[in-house]
Amino acid sequence: MRRDAIADPWGARTPYGPGQSWPVRVDSQLADGLTEDDVDRWVPTAAVLHSNGDGLELAVKDGRLVGVRGRAADRVNHGRVDPKDLYGWQANASPDRLTTPLVRRDGRLVEASWDEAMGLVAGRSRALLDERGPSSIGFYTSGQLFCEEYYTLAAIAHGAIGTNHLDGNTRLCTATAAAALKETFGCDGQPGSYTDVDHADVIALYGHNVAETQSVLWSRMLDRLAGPNPPSLLCVDPRDTPVARAATVHLAPLPGTNLALMNALLHEIIARDWVDHDYLDRCTVGFDQLAALVADYPPERAAEICRIPAARIREAAALLGGAQRLLSTVLQGFYQAHQATAAAVQVNNINLVRGMLGRPGRGVLQMNGQPTAENTRECGADGDLTGFRNWANDAHVTELADLWNLEVKQIPHYAPPTHAMQIFRYAENGSLRLLWVSATNPAVSLPDLARIRSILSQDRLFLVVQDVFLTETAELADVVLPAAMWGEKTGGFTNADRTVHLSEKAVDPPGQARPDLDIFLDYARRMDFRDRDGQPFPPWHDAETAFEAWKRASAGRPCDYTGLSYGKLRQRAIQWPCDAEHPDGTERLYVDGKFFARPGYCEDYGRDLVTGGPADQNEYRAVNPDGKAMLKAAEYLPPREMPSAEHPFALITGRTIYQFHTRTKTGRVPELRDAAPEVWVEMSEQDAKAHDLSEGDLAEITTPRGAVRARVRIRGIRDGVLFLPFHYGYWGTDDPSGRHRAANELTITDWDPVSKQPLFKTAAAAMRRAEGTR
Ligand code: SF4
Repeated sequence: MRRDAIADPWGARTPYGPGQSWPVRVDSQLADGLTEDDVDRWVPTAAVLHSNGDGLELAVKDGRLVGVRGRAADRVNHGRVDPKDLYGWQANASPDRLTTPLVRRDGRLVEASWDEAMGLVAGRSRALLDERGPSSIGFYTSGQLFCEEYYTLAAIAHGAIGTNHLDGNTRLCTATAAAALKETFGCDGQPGSYTDVDHADVIALYGHNVAETQSVLWSRMLDRLAGPNPPSLLCVDPRDTPVARAATVHLAPLPGTNLALMNALLHEIIARDWVDHDYLDRCTVGFDQLAALVADYPPERAAEICRIPAARIREAAALLGGAQRLLSTVLQGFYQAHQATAAAVQVNNINLVRGMLGRPGRGVLQMNGQPTAENTRECGADGDLTGFRNWANDAHVTELADLWNLEVKQIPHYAPPTHAMQIFRYAENGSLRLLWVSATNPAVSLPDLARIRSILSQDRLFLVVQDVFLTETAELADVVLPAAMWGEKTGGFTNADRTVHLSEKAVDPPGQARPDLDIFLDYARRMDFRDRDGQPFPPWHDAETAFEAWKRASAGRPCDYTGLSYGKLRQRAIQWPCDAEHPDGTERLYVDGKFFARPGYCEDYGRDLVTGGPADQNEYRAVNPDGKAMLKAAEYLPPREMPSAEHPFALITGRTIYQFHTRTKTGRVPELRDAAPEVWVEMSEQDAKAHDLSEGDLAEITTPRGAVRARVRIRGIRDGVLFLPFHYGYWGTDDPSGRHRAANELTITDWDPVSKQPLFKTAAAAMRRAEGTR
């Protein structure tokens, strides 16, 4: 079905009832004037402009991409396509794609051969390894590559080089999802499944504007709402989003107060004994401590902190407490906020206390932000050890060393992996001298941009950027490596509900651009990395051999891929774990009340939720000897930066449905660019009035870090809160010198103590009408 997906992002309703199968609706979009009869081939892939993992097919004609359509049989989307995907394929053919390597000469980036560019990268790496050791080299990757590429990068960084400094921009999106799952279940891995939407009678969305972040999943929810016996929705969000408008109960807490609200919801659920005691006894530890802590959070206390009526909190608790099939979902409103992991863990706790796990409609989805973020985590490109192994468990490190045929001491395990903000700090203080950035744009996406620009611009830092366009980050690089895009290479990737898709090469990359996998392997060969037997490392040489190697690394771990193959994935998408015992994959984890949390098996021994201080194996074993789910709790603390007389607004940043990340791709697609061409600021009617502002006026928002100018949109956001979309950097602007457009000029250098996810939703700001701009 073709539609104007800008005007109608979610498409026509196909209502269905609880327990029924979601009806198929195939969306498609072809270049003007073409019909399906004109298409030479349809090439299977999945969506890469959000985390939903919708199954797609790319239309190819005369060796060019000419359109897209949904895969009717795909378990994720049943044929539907998100607006970004309907139009986004056009970005591949943008005239300004990087087609040749660039190197910096006399201060300017000039074209070079692959040999020259890679020779420079390898030469600098070799010199640094000799002079300063492995910790002088760091890698900052993405949530948009394929699993084969992440696995290769993890093997090179953690294995061949032995640096602990490897992370992805998933630190900005899903680090808290991973951390919350580890804290509760001892291991990463999404318990729920999208099919839980088909069964749930209550869906609770915490800081998750699914209507814009995963529009196809929202279509699924809208279709349930339009069908018989619809579910009730609980929405926790300070903004008046489409989810909030459809909700049975909408709670709009003051930013920075999520944990107080969650503690009060748990207080009420426990006080009213909406508790599954049998499940708690069999499957969990820690209930008494949780109950004791939340006893001090009656709704009246949270009401004062969060500035929402206590009666509303009770209404929400009653909804959760009365649910028969409760699906809970969480995203950036919690993950990018103050006390992120502690708040996300309380969502897990609600489902556990209510015994709502592992059965249809009873699940938790700690969502991802990016299409392949799950793989960044599984493969270890977020710094964790490959295959959800535990860096603090010597047996796990030894297992990995044997798998790679390297010495154990080669794999850094002296400290937790270095998180992104710390990697940039090491670059700032000069201990890290080579930073290799792949498929991400930290010069726009990281907080406190003036600081990030100064770090990336240092002479002593050798900056390598591997990307498909000359991004704001690439402009600062010493070497730029042109990469192939989705549709131009083959590889696997996994969405937020553990569904693995194979994305096939449909067309050739432009010019000399190469798949990221080829670039990483080329580097390994030039560096002449060797294993214990003197054989080249890594030993794989293309996408399929890399996938087979990754399968071996995943064997016996929660994310077991050993039952998958390219051949099998060509038939259909499958949810991991997929092994001999589960050849068709696994719809839900923890159906039998058994967890990946045994002390010798778990991925992490956990942390104090307030301080982030790590526990060791003995402490973990003392608390959880049998590997049950853990009910952890934490006191609410106010954020470091709260609204004040000078900066009276709470500032949050976020997304729009029409753009992805820093618009590197979506900003080059006419339909998407024109749907949201410029940064804006959302505020309440009362706040606009108080500042003499009307719709469309230009406002200036300032924090101690900088200033941004944005057009006013008056919306149903709560009073005292400002929202800025974070997508807009300086590419495509007439005057980049002012630096008054990117929301991250304003955000703070601060992070959650457990997940190390930066805080994008907790800053204090001032606002005024920009001079002479009405
Ligand atoms: S827009 Fe970027 S930071 Fe936000 S969830 Fe998506 S990928 Fe993550």
